[in-house]
Amino acid sequence: MSSTTSSSHAVESSTLEGARGELMQGVGRILVTESEIRQRISELGAQISDDYAGLNPLLIGVLKGVIFFISDLLRSISIPATADFIAISRYDPQQKTKGPVRLIKDLDETVEGRHLIFVEDIIDTGLTLSYLLRLLKARSPASLEVCTLFNKPEHRLVDIRLRYKGFDLPDRFVVGYGLDYKGAYRHLPFLAELRPEVLQLGPK
Ligand code: 5GP
Repeated sequence: MSSTTSSSHAVESSTLEGARGELMQGVGRILVTESEIRQRISELGAQISDDYAGLNPLLIGVLKGVIFFISDLLRSISIPATADFIAISRYDPQQKTKGPVRLIKDLDETVEGRHLIFVEDIIDTGLTLSYLLRLLKARSPASLEVCTLFNKPEHRLVDIRLRYKGFDLPDRFVVGYGLDYKGAYRHLPFLAELRPEVLQLGPK
């Protein structure tokens, strides 16, 4: 490697460290580490592979929070399986307003007669999910189950059967591993609380 290249690498890595430090400033206690997430996802993938052998399941996720989980989960599934996505507008969990969910992007695939696994990053009240499950059930899939990585049971307003679940969480606003706050923190490899002073700044 030339000295120019290695010195430009040094500048790049110190810039990266600075950016990471800035990102970490708003981050509080780590609730689930990167290795705990990886381990649990490989267990969920193994369980799904056993349960759905021969059924070619379709994993359905809501953009964008679920992208990391669904891609890691899909890679840990050892049977034929595919993924498809919807996009919705949802309420702001900080404002606690429970407005209706609006579909912005529909599925590309037809789901009639398919075995569906609805993959969620986090479930809080369950209102978003129950609306989406109703929408999918109306399209006559062969089966429909739910797999969530994170679950916050304390505010649950609707009863939802969770066939696969990663971790139960306390009633805290969390970020990382796909979950954002105002678009930031999504790419943290672990799940953490947000510092109260960041949350106090309020919605955008
Ligand atoms: P629910 O309809 O279950 O109350 O809302 C679930 C959605 O609210 C999640 O998919 C997520 O977008 C958002 N949400 C709920 N709790 C949290 C949280 O602690 N952190 C983040 N970043 N989003 C959350």
